[in-house]
Amino acid sequence: MRIEILGSAAGGGFPQWNCNCRNCRSLRDGTFRGNPRTQTQVAICQDNRAWFLLNASPDLRTQIEATQVLHPRHHVRNSPIGAVLLTSGDIDQVAGLLSLRELQPFRIYCTSSIRRILQEDNSVFAMLNRVPDQVSWTDIDCDGSFCLQALPERGAGINCSVFSLGNRYPAYVSRERVAGLKPEDALLGVMATSSSGKRFAYLPAVPVVDDSLLQRLDEADLLLFDGTFWSDDELIRVQGSGSTAQEMGHIPVSGAEGSLRKLAGLRKPRKIFIHVNNTNPMLDESGPEYAEVRAAGWEVGEDGWSLDL
Ligand SMILES: [Zn+2]
Repeated sequence: MRIEILGSAAGGGFPQWNCNCRNCRSLRDGTFRGNPRTQTQVAICQDNRAWFLLNASPDLRTQIEATQVLHPRHHVRNSPIGAVLLTSGDIDQVAGLLSLRELQPFRIYCTSSIRRILQEDNSVFAMLNRVPDQVSWTDIDCDGSFCLQALPERGAGINCSVFSLGNRYPAYVSRERVAGLKPEDALLGVMATSSSGKRFAYLPAVPVVDDSLLQRLDEADLLLFDGTFWSDDELIRVQGSGSTAQEMGHIPVSGAEGSLRKLAGLRKPRKIFIHVNNTNPMLDESGPEYAEVRAAGWEVGEDGWSLDL
């Protein structure tokens, strides 16, 4: 299985348009040791024929153009992208669907709750179903297994299992709507299995790490994990106010309750942080936070990385 990291930043990207934090400022003035990043986006493929997107970032159009394997190959209108798997309804994970509205057939896999939010409450997504045989929505169970299949049917599918990671829906979803949804449908983690039996775990947003999650992750060969914030009070420290990482649904990287410590016992997977916020000091490759992450056996994911399983 080939895994392409098309984007590795959290919402807003790096630099973020309205941010003048130390990272964004020094990246703009050319003194930053590290790379800019687009918003988190991953594509996976088993056979170089059918590609599957894990979520759909607001930067999707430029990410596809930057990735040759995702370009059209035959006919006038065509794409190797056969399906999109949504792990949540966050704007950063679904806005890119609107960049795929040019009457191309593909499948969208998501929980029925996320489908209802997008299809019933947000009429703009009706542009994905302007004509028959455009987008096909497939409901998945929040604790189920299925085979990702391209539309139109071609190439090898990819066996996936998903599991619930949280019960918080995005702020744009009304309280009345949330009351009618299954809480466990809100946020999923993904485990995809390659034809060689190797496992890829994809978790760009993780509110809590418990023993059952640790057990799952220990079965993975490759892990892309929530690296949004270095510390719980990062945004408050940078902005002077705001929410903590935990309040925003992200376990921080550092600290007693952070992912470095919580996942320290994982011996099997290659461990890569993804969905890194522009304020996170571990983006600075000359800093102590980056050194600490590397010393702990983790990597900080970057746009353009290609991984094989
Ligand atoms: Zn910034």
